[in-house]
Amino acid sequence: MKKLIFSLAILALAVVACQPNSDEVVPNQEVATIDMSDFYVYTDSDLEKHSSDAKNNKCQSMKVLNRLLKENPGLENRMFDIEKHTRTYIYFKGKPKNPGGGNGGGNTPTPIPTPYTGTITIPVVVNILEDPAHPVSQAHIVSQIAILNDDFNNNNSNTGNVPLEFASLVADTEITFTLAAVNRKASSKSEWGTNDAMKLASEGGIDATDPAHNLNLWVCEIGGGILGYAQFPGGALATDGVVIGSDFLGENTAGGQYGHGRTATHEVGHWLNLRHIWGDGRCRQDDFVADTPSSDGANYGCPSYPTVNCKSNDMTMNYMDYTDDNCMYMFSNGQNDRMRTIFASGGSRVSFVQ
Ligand SMILES: [Zn+2]
Repeated sequence: MKKLIFSLAILALAVVACQPNSDEVVPNQEVATIDMSDFYVYTDSDLEKHSSDAKNNKCQSMKVLNRLLKENPGLENRMFDIEKHTRTYIYFKGKPKNPGGGNGGGNTPTPIPTPYTGTITIPVVVNILEDPAHPVSQAHIVSQIAILNDDFNNNNSNTGNVPLEFASLVADTEITFTLAAVNRKASSKSEWGTNDAMKLASEGGIDATDPAHNLNLWVCEIGGGILGYAQFPGGALATDGVVIGSDFLGENTAGGQYGHGRTATHEVGHWLNLRHIWGDGRCRQDDFVADTPSSDGANYGCPSYPTVNCKSNDMTMNYMDYTDDNCMYMFSNGQNDRMRTIFASGGSRVSFVQ
């Protein structure tokens, strides 16, 4: 959350000055150098400062990312490029495009992304590894899709609880979700873990369905008190999507305080390139979002406002924190920009809008 710093070099006019009789106009060439110096991918994801309870291992996305980075040497570079694309989009958002043709000069080959305007519709394929002890009904599935739509379109019943300090930052992402298919496969496995086996038929799971055009959502018993995990943009297509524990899909009394469908909202946030709101580090480690306050760790339960860390009030009601389902009810405008960027031209999920 510290502000992203961009340095801007203006390559001026100059060049043509010595052609007094020429009608040719060479436009000013603006070259933006996007500062990537604070970019990180590896995190100390075991750092859960506010929790002494191992069961509060809510989300394993960063741990899984650490594993994927080790297994795939090209992933870090791909994520760097996606981040640079995102920062370029945000930097140029609302600015008139330079008639000289983007920021393509010098050391910034990234073209200025063209935003995708209007509603983005994401078909969701739900892949269920069915454990009879943890049934997943059609009602759970339907309620989950409704919750995603409410949450991503600022239409949930708690949004009025956002404190005044953050009220102007609440985002309507105009991203909607439709149920495309449900695949079920019987499974007696009580602990799938986080090694993506549930995503591969060859390992007893269910293969992804056309992941370039569908959000694949696997539902299974993950084990270890883990609620879910997601794969960030840039990873392999075969494992692209999110995984949700069986008891935590949709409105589900078995899920307790996590039984209101916000695990999927949080994990889909990662799938759309959001980091945890505290940046998975101390105060100075950023979530790459300018309008979310710094924090030094996750919040749990249902914190009272204000909750102060890093000399500012935490946005504990943000979906990318670790609070209880009923106590998280907003994305910020800055997070919205990050998510929409991946559907812009050159974006890592542009295939969904093509
Ligand atoms: Zn997470």
